[in-house]
Amino acid sequence: RFITLEGGEGAGKSTQLRRLADSLRETLRARGADLVTTREPGGSPGAEEIRGLLVTGETGRWSPVTEALLHTAARRDHLERTVWPALEAGRWVLCDRFFDSTMAYQGYGLGLGRELVETLQRAALGGFRPDLTLILDIEVETGLRRAASRHGGEDRYERMDIGFHQRLRDGFLDIARREPERCAVIDADADPDTVQARIRDAVSARLGL
Ligand code: C5P
Repeated sequence: RFITLEGGEGAGKSTQLRRLADSLRETLRARGADLVTTREPGGSPGAEEIRGLLVTGETGRWSPVTEALLHTAARRDHLERTVWPALEAGRWVLCDRFFDSTMAYQGYGLGLGRELVETLQRAALGGFRPDLTLILDIEVETGLRRAASRHGGEDRYERMDIGFHQRLRDGFLDIARREPERCAVIDADADPDTVQARIRDAVSARLGL
């Protein structure tokens, strides 16, 4: 099974991912299965190299289309080298961000639009989709405040205007509305234990785990 975790800036994704991984690993071990955690952009040597071009690059180095292409190229390598082999070996895979981030950041946030991003994903991935996507949702102001207090707003996306972050949030919510069977929206405006319990409930309800 393939589970992805998504969210905008300051939604608490990293903390929640670590905790979910610990909890899932334990549950799966009892069933004789195991869990691989990975991330995007990145997750394979080639994709991590591409990540370096994207994440540490200057804002405006790439056009939005080029950025979407780089993310998608990294994703294809990550799938070939890491995700698909793990799934074929019967492992569960938990991934920090996946194609919904490309849709939300480049498609909605940077204005590329749904159609282009969907076309790229179809070309690069075929119809491959996560079994479950957890979307951490938080009000834009709250998320940005959290992110800024964590690392001083240095991330290049944290420097984007508030409109960008609003489009990003609305984008993730729209994705969830379009694919309710795949996506679960988790209200992330609570303490970490509460958010983790909400995530765990969603995983149990959707995947029986
Ligand atoms: O927040 P996280 O560390 O998961 O994301 C890494 C960086 O990549 C962030 O700046 C995020 O905003 C950005 N990103 C992006 N487009 C994607 C996925 C991530 O701009 N498709």
